[in-house]
Amino acid sequence: MAGSRLRDISLDDARDRMRKVMADLYPICRSITGEGVRRTLDRLQEDLPIAVHEIPSGTQVFDWTVPKEWNIRDAWIVGPSGERVVDFAQSNLHVVSYSVPVHATLPLAELQRHLFTLPDRPQLVPYRTSYYVEAWGFCMAHARLLSLEDGQYEVFIDSTLENGSLTYGECVIPGREAGEVLLSCHICHPSLCNDNLSGIALVLYLGTLLRRCDMRYTYRLLFIPGTIGSITWLARNAQQVARIRHGLVVSGVGDAGPVSYKRSRRGSAVIDHAMSHVLGRSGQPYTLLDFDPYGYDERQFCSPGFNLPVGRISRSVYGTYPEYHTSADDLSFVRDESLVDSLSVVVEVLDILEHDRRYVNLNPRCEPQLGRRGLYRPLGGGIDSKSAELALLWVLNLSDGSASLLDIADRSGLPFAAIRDAAEALERHGLVRSQPEPN
Ligand code: ZN
Repeated sequence: MAGSRLRDISLDDARDRMRKVMADLYPICRSITGEGVRRTLDRLQEDLPIAVHEIPSGTQVFDWTVPKEWNIRDAWIVGPSGERVVDFAQSNLHVVSYSVPVHATLPLAELQRHLFTLPDRPQLVPYRTSYYVEAWGFCMAHARLLSLEDGQYEVFIDSTLENGSLTYGECVIPGREAGEVLLSCHICHPSLCNDNLSGIALVLYLGTLLRRCDMRYTYRLLFIPGTIGSITWLARNAQQVARIRHGLVVSGVGDAGPVSYKRSRRGSAVIDHAMSHVLGRSGQPYTLLDFDPYGYDERQFCSPGFNLPVGRISRSVYGTYPEYHTSADDLSFVRDESLVDSLSVVVEVLDILEHDRRYVNLNPRCEPQLGRRGLYRPLGGGIDSKSAELALLWVLNLSDGSASLLDIADRSGLPFAAIRDAAEALERHGLVRSQPEPN
């Protein structure tokens, strides 16, 4: 299979494999550390050779410290008449992530200080965390809270918060060049599907594709807990990030909303340019967002001391849809067609990055005679001959070493593939020469 092309992708296979891994991962109780992350990475290793790194609690990572490791086995609340009010076994969202252990009996008024609900969405269970403040709590549907009778409640959380480690996964797929493309997703949410699993599924599937292809760039895939994971990875790899030519944070790529792309802090990185080119020609609605210092791990990759060319692809932006961080972000919330469409966009963008180069016209004084060289003919690939001819003229005219093929595609209004094919044909005929990539 090695040597197959990235863009020769089977969308049915992609859908089935992404769906399968999401279904397998959905029940696992993940957090920023702990066995849930390890079990998640174990499952991902079935599809991709991912190296698992364990960073001890207490390790200093820039201004942060790797936290204690949290694990949970069971949790419940039993009401005055002996009924289970909430049960961790029913949904791992019921326990505030990083809750310290507790076993106590307390009156409803006191219990309520530890209960979290969504009064505006009374049927949904919220997702809450308390990573950096030692506390305990439960999450439940607001409608259920309203039905609770006065009396004594027994609460039990069988968790541990102890020195251990932070776990993350990394997969490097070597290419012909040392320059790297970074693809990152977060793996720290429990049973939440769009926020977390959709990104994992997409990056994982992409990894299986990239391994089968002969790629120019080296691809570095990160499966990391949000925020502390990217800070930890950057602290351990600060000397090597200069290799990163392009990068994408992938998260929330399965809901019904249109694709949104958040530009890197640089705002004019090639990845920003490639993404706007692909989305602009997709014929579908999309949103381009400028960088802001909030969001997912692009915040860390784009912090000023790194300022990496890393953008973020999502569909609906986190926090803007009612299912966000609730029990409604389940397997049915992620749509196959959205997931596959997001994958197609990323594949198209990577295909551009792989082929984007600067060329120099070796015959710049007047047009070379193309007909004599047999170049005034369709180049195949479904591109009509008029576009193909125009693409040749655009590449010849703008290839002075400063414009990239992507620049030429944008300026000409022609598809990148037509420009790329034209440049390759002109190079075969000795009319242009590709330039080494500037560092
Ligand atoms: Zn989230």
